[in-house]
Parts: sequence; structure tokens; C-alpha cells
Amino acid sequence: MSRFWSDIVHRLSPYTPGEQPAVAHPVKLNTNENPYGPSPRVLAALSAELGGQADTLRRYPDPTSRALHEAIAQRMGVHTEQVFVGNGSDEVLAHIFQGLLRHAEPILFPDVTYSFYPTYARLFEVQFTTIALESDFSIDVDAYRRPNGGILIANPNAPTGRALTLAQIERLLVANPDSVVVIDEAYVDFGAESAIALIDRFPQLLVVQTLSKSRSLAGLRVGFAIGHRDLIEALTRVKDSFNSYPIDRLAQVGAVAALDDVEWFDKTRHAVIATRETLTADLQALGFEVLPSAANFVFARHPDEDAAALAQALREREIFVRHFRLPRIEQFLRISVGTDAECKALIDALKTLVKVAS
Ligand code: PMP
Repeated sequence: MSRFWSDIVHRLSPYTPGEQPAVAHPVKLNTNENPYGPSPRVLAALSAELGGQADTLRRYPDPTSRALHEAIAQRMGVHTEQVFVGNGSDEVLAHIFQGLLRHAEPILFPDVTYSFYPTYARLFEVQFTTIALESDFSIDVDAYRRPNGGILIANPNAPTGRALTLAQIERLLVANPDSVVVIDEAYVDFGAESAIALIDRFPQLLVVQTLSKSRSLAGLRVGFAIGHRDLIEALTRVKDSFNSYPIDRLAQVGAVAALDDVEWFDKTRHAVIATRETLTADLQALGFEVLPSAANFVFARHPDEDAAALAQALREREIFVRHFRLPRIEQFLRISVGTDAECKALIDALKTLVKVAS
């Protein structure tokens, strides 16, 4: 292999997204999508934007996504200058890696976390050090007290679902006054406390959220960051050097409508939380150990079963869950919370697959 090619292969080890199965009616519990669909107001707003004709799409969208900034600022109780929007929170994270982390020292994140972090670190040639989770898969914030070029924590963490309290995040921030600290809150609305409450006191804090999960808009690709206006201005400079129209016309309109419908947001996220509790109890009854989850998924292992084989057996029944061939978590399955009927289908299948202790 040429030097050039081996260097590329080393630097680019792409993230593998969860499978989007081709079967007609899968029980799809593998990519943490919301089973309930977005607010009906989203479809109404998209139809109104198109006005029954495709001609609207001829024109560029608002490059500043002003209405969307305003909707996010209002919903999150911050100023519009404290808001940055991106094409999914993956893109927001990419811009943070591109422009905001100090390259002189390694950045820190947990050894078990969202696998896009090491992917971006390699792509943008940012050194990183992983900090081991505790044996119960929780994060010890006091382990993040060494010189660093930035810190990334998903809260709740993925794929474990475990959450830190606001007091723990505050301790992390107090110990790291000179590093950009990114709290990735993709799943926060399913049971964790948002660090947005801390941004006025900690100018190094960036909170990243998405409309993909609790607002059920994974298909529109809208994510955002909230932070001190200097950090937001820095991110905007990165974006403007990269893509001046990151948020497409329909995504802007749909996201604003979704943020507007608080009633739908609360109803559906509480339904997900209630189903998560039933799913956890049902899995435990089958002998699974389930980590406490504050997210829209659970992370579970069965002491007597091989997780990869279980995932495959479920797949053959058109039930899709996520298995990661990664150190420490090979024996776990990550199961997204679906509708009650989808979770029942999963539990019924597992009853035929796992050995239940008598
Ligand atoms: N952060 C975490 C922890 C995630 O699990 C995900 C979803 N895979 C994302 C960010 C990205 O979400 P999106 O790009 O859909 O906003």
C-alpha cells in the first residue's frame, strides 16, 4: 500500500451508521428514531412553504436561518446570538472539531461514547485521550482534570443512556476553565437536566442538541449549539468558511413548526419515557441487566447469551437492534424505545430466544 493511501486509511475510519433495513415493515429499534413522528404542524408548514409547487425550491434558503435561530432562542430562553444551527448535530460537532478544539493537547472524552467523536478526531487530526468509564458505566467527572485541548461528554451518554447531574457538569466546568467543554445533549429531553442553565456562568461551555430525537425530525437534519456569543461567533466563522447555506429551506420551516408545538413534544417524549420503563422491566424479567437510562434507548446485556447472536436472531425476525463490536460493550444490545406494540414484539421474540432462569 502506498504511504499516501495508508495515511488516508488511518485518518479516515468512517462512522458506520445504524442499518436502514430494506424490508417493508421492520420493527426498527436500532437508530434511536422517535416512533411517534413529528408534530402535525410540521407537515402543514412544509406544505404551506411549497404551496403545491416545486418552484419555491428554485431559490436559495435564508443563509442565516434567522427564523430558526429565533425559534430556538425563544424555546431555550437564550439570545439569538447564543444560537448556532447546523445540518444535524453531527455537522455542528464537525464544525466544533474543525475550528474550536486546541490541537496542541489531546482532547478528552469517555472510552465508551458516541463513536463519531474518534472519527472526527482522526479526520481533523485532533489528538485525543479516552477516559475509562467506571465499572457501572457511569462517568467520573473528576477524571477530567488533566491538561486538555477540549472535552466532549454526551449527556445522557450514548450508547449507555446514563446521565450526569447538573452539579456534576458544573464540577467538570469549574475544573476546566480554559477548555471548550461540549455537552452533547442529543437525548436530554428523555430524562436528563440540560446544561443550557449553566451557559451564562461558563463561557467555555457549548451545549449541542438535535431535533432528530425528541422532535422526531431525523429526516430533516437540524441540530444546534447554545453557548457564549464568542464561541457561537467562532462556530459561525467556521461554517461560513465551509457552506453558506447549511440549512435547507424545508428544514428551516419544518424545524420552526416543530419547536412551536410544545404540547406534541411533551406528549410524545413522555410516551417514550413511559414505554422505556415498561421495556426495562420486561427485559429484566427475562434476565437482562439494564443500565439506568435517561435516553430514548436502553443498553442491556444478558449473562447467558451472546449479544451478537441475539441481534442476528432478532434480525432474522425483522426486528432490528444495535450491537457494537467494541471493547467493553460487546455483550450489550442497544435497543431504541419504539411504540408499545414494537417493544412487545421484541419481548415476545426474546422470550423464544433467551434462556429464562427457573
Ligand atoms: N450525538 C449523539 C450522542 C447521537 O447519538 C447522535 C445520533 N446518532 C447525534 C449526536 C447526531 O444526531 P443528528 O446528527 O441526527 O442531529
